[in-house]
Amino acid sequence: MEQDGGKITVTIVGGGLVGALSACFFAKRGHKVRLYEYREDIRTAEYARGRSINLAMSVRARAALAVVGLEGALVREHGIPMRARMIHSRNGERRAIPYGTSEQCIYSVGRKYLNEVLLTAAEKNPNVELYFQHKMVGGDLSKGEINVEVEGSKKQMMVKADLVIGADGAFSSVRKQLMKQPLFNYSQTYIEHGYMELCIPPKKSGDFAMEANYLHIWPRGNFMMIALPNQDCSWTVTLFMPFEQFKSLDTPQKLLDFFNHFYPDAVPLIGEDRLVKDFFESKPSPLVSVKCKPYHVGSSAIIIGDAAHAMVPFYGQGMNAGFEDCHIFDNLMTKHKNNLKKALEEFSDYRNPDAEAICNLAMYNYIEMRDLVNHPSFLLRKKFDMFAHWLMPNFWIPLYSSVTFSHMRYSLCIKNREWQDKVLHRSMYFLSFATILGISAVAYKCQDTILNIYTSMIRSAHQYF
Ligand code: FAD
Repeated sequence: MEQDGGKITVTIVGGGLVGALSACFFAKRGHKVRLYEYREDIRTAEYARGRSINLAMSVRARAALAVVGLEGALVREHGIPMRARMIHSRNGERRAIPYGTSEQCIYSVGRKYLNEVLLTAAEKNPNVELYFQHKMVGGDLSKGEINVEVEGSKKQMMVKADLVIGADGAFSSVRKQLMKQPLFNYSQTYIEHGYMELCIPPKKSGDFAMEANYLHIWPRGNFMMIALPNQDCSWTVTLFMPFEQFKSLDTPQKLLDFFNHFYPDAVPLIGEDRLVKDFFESKPSPLVSVKCKPYHVGSSAIIIGDAAHAMVPFYGQGMNAGFEDCHIFDNLMTKHKNNLKKALEEFSDYRNPDAEAICNLAMYNYIEMRDLVNHPSFLLRKKFDMFAHWLMPNFWIPLYSSVTFSHMRYSLCIKNREWQDKVLHRSMYFLSFATILGISAVAYKCQDTILNIYTSMIRSAHQYF
């Protein structure tokens, strides 16, 4: 079905961050939106299980929020700016590595708060209906149909719309339907590391126990721990390490020995009792990266956010990329005057190389965060990049800045870095060559003097032997 400028009906599967934002975008255009989320409404649920308590938000997500008028409430009023990584070494030393220029920062934002604000903003529109505890269990995407099961009842209902949006996360049911299409490519990779969330509470005075406005990192080679600040002055601490290592810490004493050895400065901040309690009450969660193509079916269905491109969390870009999907799709709807077939096709073609690029970068950044930040060559390169960026802000954009502080396509961020590496390697060759040439020229020019020095050295040596 092709629409030309008219209003359409949209079914959104998933009321997480991306689904809720997508509802705001479609509502703003005046389309009729029905959103189905299989969990309870997190705004009224007693305990909402999330994958991480807080998230790092950067310019891509902020730009999308600005379009629906939520950037101020969510970022400037609620977000906690983080201007640098604070690296903790084992001997307790700390050093800051800035993320960008002095004006640039990322923001720590509470996942639950963000999701609640987005759902409420979507629901304010009379053309949006939210259905919680409604699970998509199947459907025929080529007809815009999904089957929904209401929790507690075995009954299914069929919902039909002009467009189905799958924003149902890494283990997407909508994607499972797309997999039945011919020529659909799909791959998923679990890394050998899992993650577990712990907590550093506020000090007795109610203040932050560590310097706020930093993302704290304890890099330890093959594993690491990070901490992001929360509004209530606590810290969400995330421990990333191989599942085998989690398994080996099977008694409180082993856990405390491990922490006292690798993270001694964090132990008093978390508190031994709390550390043991939180660790043994939780299980490490897996981390998956998903790539697939295309993201759409004809003119009637599309997947966005983690459903299309789940990634490991080490670039802090999963939600940012998901929000950028909503923004890009909105622009394509304008460009193609609501012609779904054209908008969906272009979204798949345009977005896929970028989604795969950020999935790859996220994998790479795990090595950078847990290990490379300790290497002098890494720090030297960072300093050089920052200096070159300061000198030529539009010409030399470091990789991290292009991903986090610009709207450059993710695939171009990688190309830009490859180009910079080439320039640097060629400059090194050129410098080495020029140095050798210079030394040779000086040697040639002064050969008589050098010969004299050499002869007198030989003579004086003869006197001793
Ligand atoms: P989800 O958040 O997974 O939401 C999907 C929703 O769909 C859920 O509410 C689910 O209940 C619902 N659903 C699923 N199946 C069905 C169904 N069949 N029917 C109805 N509803 C369904 N990103 C960042 O940008 N910055 C960060 O700092 C960051 N940190 C992270 C840290 C960790 C440890 C992890 C794991 C991820 C992190 N991310 C981060 C990534 C970010 O969490 C995800 O990219 C983001 O949550 C994706 O949102 P989504 O709405 O696409 O998927």
